Amino acid sequence: MTTSEGIARPVAADSSRAPGPAPTGPTAPPGPSGLAAPSGPSGLAAPSGPSGLAGLLRGRGLRRGQDDFAVELDGFNLITEHDPDLIAVVADAADVRAAVAYAAARELPIAVQATGHGPSNPADRGLLISTRKLRGVTIDPLARSARAEGGVQWYEVVQAAAEYGLAPLSGSSPLTGVTGYTLGGGLGLLARRYGYAADLVTAVEVVTADGRAHRATADRDTDLFWALRGGTGNFGVVTALEFGLVPVARLYGGGLFFPGDAAADVLHAWRVWTGSVPDELTSSFALLRLPDIEAVPDFLRGRLTAHIRIAHLGSADSGADLVAPLRAAAPLVVDTLAEIPYTRSGEIHTDPIEPMPYHARSLMLRELDETAADGLLALAGPGADCIDLVVELRQLGGALGRPAPVPNAVDHRDAAFALSTVSLPDGRPPLVVDGMAPWGTGRRLLNLLASPDTAHLARTGYEPATYARLADVKARVDPKNLFRFNHNIPPLAQPARPL
Ligand SMILES: Cc1cc2nc3c(=O)[nH]c(=O)nc-3n(C[C@H](O)[C@H](O)[C@H](O)COP(=O)(O)OP(=O)(O)OC[C@H]3O[C@@H](n4cnc5c(N)ncnc54)[C@H](O)[C@@H]3O)c2cc1C
Repeated sequence: MTTSEGIARPVAADSSRAPGPAPTGPTAPPGPSGLAAPSGPSGLAAPSGPSGLAGLLRGRGLRRGQDDFAVELDGFNLITEHDPDLIAVVADAADVRAAVAYAAARELPIAVQATGHGPSNPADRGLLISTRKLRGVTIDPLARSARAEGGVQWYEVVQAAAEYGLAPLSGSSPLTGVTGYTLGGGLGLLARRYGYAADLVTAVEVVTADGRAHRATADRDTDLFWALRGGTGNFGVVTALEFGLVPVARLYGGGLFFPGDAAADVLHAWRVWTGSVPDELTSSFALLRLPDIEAVPDFLRGRLTAHIRIAHLGSADSGADLVAPLRAAAPLVVDTLAEIPYTRSGEIHTDPIEPMPYHARSLMLRELDETAADGLLALAGPGADCIDLVVELRQLGGALGRPAPVPNAVDHRDAAFALSTVSLPDGRPPLVVDGMAPWGTGRRLLNLLASPDTAHLARTGYEPATYARLADVKARVDPKNLFRFNHNIPPLAQPARPL
């Protein structure tokens, strides 16, 4: 997703809520906390005291109607908001165990939120566990690995890893949560060279619906380990992830912006060009229709713009050689390509940093031949009846087309491009994504779906066998579907075998 905000104003989204140092690019939320007692009309629990939720936590517990309740619900995508009876702002993994056990004993459904970048199925009751206070990050430079607690945002890992010349497989926005992003696969800026973020995960610390803590690895809780990496937030509350880092300190990256009336030339040039680039180059093409508001830089305001985003693992000279055909595709409006440290990688897409309401939709494409590109231009190019803010194509292939070192639940290895759109709430059906169905695999990257109207689409994130296995693991770790406020994979009625 892209807006111009990060180009002109790389400032904190809400620095009053941001613990720790500010990132170099677009910055971050999180914030206050406090615990109180569940009770009230729902009769869910005693007020504060040893028997109430508040008495069980080191963090905060709040019930509907209390001060700060609304503040703790705040998330990035304002298209919807959870509406639980209780919130647990957990301070550590023990709090997560206590909160889950509390909910399980009362059969309360549980929602989990870190940043609110990926809402789907909002809670209408039950308990919301806010992980945004779980902010620990540890880097092991020798092992080239990181451990990030369940509420960490990417910019925190990016900065910590950069001290050792390392980088995580983070995505376009430094503000998304490491955990939510990775559980959904994680399609990042270096993806064609290194694969999905979930592919580099080596351990997941998770509290399942029975309140038990697991450390799932390739050797322990192996089915759970498989499911967590790609199966989204269906299997428990992740308290920490461990994952590999890659030796990337600098890259040749940024964006090429072209006038909207050159969109056809630019898209066709990019499409042909993607057929010959090495895996070291990950790129995307976007049609931007950004509003005529002050937050958007002049050159993008109130007009159609074609935007190519580049992340090249190589020297500036080799990168410039590679992108020469793109620069020649049409007259450029703005060219930000340069050698940059990975800490500035948020400038490549320049995603929005201020909360806003939007739908995000996606479809994986088998191919992008000339007809498909023309189809997209007819749906979203100059003169099209399209009001999507962003229509984006990410090139896949390379490591994304190869199996993970330890098999996981991320499918899509056969897809060639990921199409996604971002639109304001306007009541329209997803015309662009639906219109591109003839070139689609029929599957969607769940990470690139947001808003309640995508809540029923979990099945489309997987091949049938993968989905069936996920539903089986779900039945073994969450048979009552307590973790249902997500792209939900309901449990199989009869699991195949115990975990
Ligand atoms: C501006 C922007 C840019 C993005 N760029 C990319 C990108 O480049 N590549 C990509 O793959 N995706 C991208 N995404 C999608 C993003 O990765 C998903 O929306 C992801 O789910 C966000 O996780 P979060 O924790 O930040 O959001 P939240 O809304 O807080 O969480 C989303 C869901 O993740 C689950 N979850 C979060 N934390 C936990 C936890 N600790 N334990 C269990 N479940 C948890 C829950 O089910 C929750 O409902 C982008 C989204 C936005 C808004």
